[in-house]
Amino acid sequence: MPQFRTVLAVTSLAATGLITSMAASADTQVVVLGTGTPVPNGERAGSSIAVIHDQQAYVFDMGAGVVQRAIQAYEQHDIDALYPTQIDHLFLTHLHSDHIVDFPELLGTYWWRRENQIQVFGPPGTQAMSEGANAMLTEDTQTRLADKSPVTNRDAFRANVTEFDGAGVVFDENGVTVEAFPVTHGDWDAAYGFRITTPDKTIILSGDTSLNDETARQAQGADILFHEVISHEGWQDLSEEWQAYHQYAHTLTTDVAELAEQAQPELLVLYHVLHYGAPIDGVVDEVKQGYSGDVVLAEDLDIFD
Ligand SMILES: [Zn+2]
Ligand SMILES: [Zn+2]
Repeated sequence: MPQFRTVLAVTSLAATGLITSMAASADTQVVVLGTGTPVPNGERAGSSIAVIHDQQAYVFDMGAGVVQRAIQAYEQHDIDALYPTQIDHLFLTHLHSDHIVDFPELLGTYWWRRENQIQVFGPPGTQAMSEGANAMLTEDTQTRLADKSPVTNRDAFRANVTEFDGAGVVFDENGVTVEAFPVTHGDWDAAYGFRITTPDKTIILSGDTSLNDETARQAQGADILFHEVISHEGWQDLSEEWQAYHQYAHTLTTDVAELAEQAQPELLVLYHVLHYGAPIDGVVDEVKQGYSGDVVLAEDLDIFD
């Protein structure tokens, strides 16, 4: 799997200024915009992955700090599709705060220069969340609409929401297909993973989930499986109550290894890592103890193509 290692090396070269543009590639790029969790972490924005295909960004989840990461990706890697007003497609796995709190930021950032309304695809509750974001921004939007500054599209402050509730294709345009599949995440009735297919890549996002047969099935032979994970070492030191909760809602490294061994993705990328007192890098070694394939820990602004 040298292809992905090469890309990670190229990404770090780009960060040093030796390579200034990665936008020339016509192939699908996957840009990691946030690898965090609800646990505050100054190095990791909330959860978000962007798939870039044919100069369009398809963004999955929108945790805290993700819009700022998108601007960094635009500035550092010339990815025009990640300029905030160019992000037209957002997909939500579920409505936990660490996956949605930058939605008002995306909605509000430079909306008066935005040409298109944002298309949002999410589980039941997404429409109400979007209306809540609009309510929060009411004074901004109404004042900008009323005053003398020009507004490109007077509807652009509002998102177009499509709610889905069940497995199936939620989007199929421009060579990109997004299919939702149900996962098991604590008491959530509607928590989903996504299968994203482009002409050259199949990408699976686990979303937040406990060990799940459907994720293993979806990930069979995928190019990249992004999977959430809990450090077994960190989990061991939690109270019994927290251990039980985390097994109910999330996936231990030992279980991710079992799933990956079954699914054999081309590359396993760990993100949304709950590690508590244990070193975060340890999750890669823990997974490798039970999985012989390629596995890396995602950092914010990593690029895979
Ligand atoms: Zn989460
Ligand atoms: Zn969650």
